This record gives sequence, structure tokens and C-alpha cells, in this order.
Amino acid sequence: MRKTVFSSALAAVILFTSCGKFGNSNSADDVKNSKSIFAMDTYITVTSYGEDTDKALQAAEDKITSLEKLWSVTDETSEIYAINHSGGQSVKVSPETADLLYFALDMNKRTNGAFDISLYPVLTAWGFTTDEYRVPGDKEIADLLESAGVEKISLNNQTVQIPTDMQIDLGAIGKGYAGDLIAKELRSNGVKSALIDLGGNIQTVGTKPDKEKWKVGIRSPFGEGNFATLEIGECAIVTSGGYERYFVEDGVTYWHILDPKTGKPADSGIASVSVIGSEGRTCDALSTSLFVLGLDKATELWRESDDFEMIIVTSDGEIYITEGIEDDFELSNNFADPKVSVIYR
Ligand code: AMP
Ligand code: MG
Repeated sequence: MRKTVFSSALAAVILFTSCGKFGNSNSADDVKNSKSIFAMDTYITVTSYGEDTDKALQAAEDKITSLEKLWSVTDETSEIYAINHSGGQSVKVSPETADLLYFALDMNKRTNGAFDISLYPVLTAWGFTTDEYRVPGDKEIADLLESAGVEKISLNNQTVQIPTDMQIDLGAIGKGYAGDLIAKELRSNGVKSALIDLGGNIQTVGTKPDKEKWKVGIRSPFGEGNFATLEIGECAIVTSGGYERYFVEDGVTYWHILDPKTGKPADSGIASVSVIGSEGRTCDALSTSLFVLGLDKATELWRESDDFEMIIVTSDGEIYITEGIEDDFELSNNFADPKVSVIYR
């Protein structure tokens, strides 16, 4: 049995750092400062522009460290660990964790079950949580799915209770919400222009210091390089793709985003999906869910929503973008001419 394993925290979205004025100008806004930290299984870099942002950056770093302590699924002192090992007892959690859990339950409803934080035991059976990859049998998956289902989670203000055989993980929204909270921390410390890169997911504060939009590259799901760039103002952009973590066994590729209905890697014909919107947590939850739902259902969800835009790359290399970003989207020159379709309301 041949098995190839691939796991990567490589940037799905790469920032173009061509902020022309640096170095030659003495404008206070041009002062650039950044901090990198490895947390939430990825490199997080916060770059701020303007004078005296040291305190803000330190506050951002402290925030990241504290959120990781709350949401790590493996750290025995985290709140998620406490919930998962509570033996069916109620656990009191912080306001941040409670907010995120309420939000996760809402997103489960909004996506008709595609977004599901209760799949941790199924992810473990596939080896995605341990790196000991294997293909579980249908009976094993069916048994594990019996114990899943967010309707069994009871949430009452800051008190959480889950059944003994359930385990939850916030891997599909933690970084997105962290982006929101880091941006908030920076703003409340007076920062007007900043870019937060959470392993390729981007969250911005304001515009670039020269008041121009930020320009980000959208990574190709089929190899290295960006197939397009997108110009953005203050927002988040979050990408999910099968290429981010997968293994190959007997010629079949299995990736880390599961369809909660089957307990198997979602096979909806999407190679990657990027979601753009004002809230990082919404973009993060949706990028994972749209990957599960596929192009048609993702389009339906977009049409009934007004809080996000999307870029979908199908497994056969076609690109679909929603009309709200049409003017800001540009294909990269170095890529073969893919078919791009704009989805209108
Ligand atoms: P993301 O990179 O944001 O798409 O998140 C992927 C991670 O979310 C996986 O590594 C799992 O930990 C978790 N996950 C997988 N499938 C789902 C799902 N259907 N709903 C919620 N979380 C999921
Ligand atoms: Mg996600």
C-alpha cells in the first residue's frame, strides 16, 4: 500500500509587498512594523503601519497567545480540551469561546449542516489530527457519525455541555475569529492601517498607508504560484482547499475537509474556495462549508446572503467569481488562460 502524505501551512493568499513609498519618504504613516508568531498550527504575521505601533503589536501578540490557549484541541489546559474531556459535565468557558460556539451552531444551520464542529473523532479516524493517515471502513465511519451532530451540544450563556462520546474542534473557524479579534485589538490601540496574515488567510485594518487598496494573490490549488490577484479594502479573505492537507493512498487523494453527511472527504468538485467579507469568522466558516456544498449550493447561499463574495476554482480548473469583486479581480499573466465566469445575483 503506497501512501504519500502532504500537509502544509503554506500561504493560500500571498501579499504583494509593493507598497512603493517605503524607504524614500519620511511620512509617519510609512513606518512599518511587524511581528510573527507560530500559533494555531500556522505562522501568523501582523504588520502595522504608522508611528508607535509597538504597544499595539504586543497587544496583538498577547491576544493570539491567549486565544490559542483557549481553543487548542491538544493543549490539556485549553477550554476546548476541557469540553472534550468533561465526561458529559457542564464546562464554564470564556466569553470569546462562548461567542464562537454560538456562532458555529448558527453557521451549521445557515449551511444546512455542511459546517459541523463535532467531527473531531471522524477526523481522528482518518488520521488528520495525528498524522497517522488511514482510510477507515464504512462501518467505523457510520458508528463515529452516530456520536456527532451539533444539535447535541447544549450552550447556555457561557456554559457548554457535550455528550461523552463527542469531541469538537474549532479548526475551521478559530483563525478567522482570531483575525477579527486581533484587528479589533489593533484598532483599539490606535492602528489605522495593518495587515494580519494567518497562514495565508488575510485580515486587514483600513487601507494601505497610501490610502490605496491592498493587493493580494490568490494561490492556485494545482501547484505553486498565484492564479489571480484581488484588490481589497478593510476585510478578510479566507481560503479552503483540499491541497492544504491531504494524503494519497492507492492512487486516491483524501483531504481534511469532511462532508458531515458521509464522514468522508467532501467531493463536491471544488479544488479551492476563497471567501471575502467584513468578518473573518464568517469567511472562515463559509470557506470550509462552501467547499463541502459545491458550486451550485454555494451560489444559492451567496444569492440569499449579503455578507460575502467568493472565488471558486473547480477541480477541472474553471474559475467562478461573484459580481461584487468583478472589478477588483485580475488573472495573473503567468497562468494558462482559465475560463472565468462571473456569477450575478
Ligand atoms: P479550513 O482550513 O478553515 O477549511 O478548516 C479545515 C479544518 O476544519 C479541518 O482540518 C478540520 O479540523 C475541520 N473540518 C473538516 N471538515 C469540517 C466541516 N465539514 N465543518 C467544520 N469543520 C471541519
Ligand atoms: Mg474555514
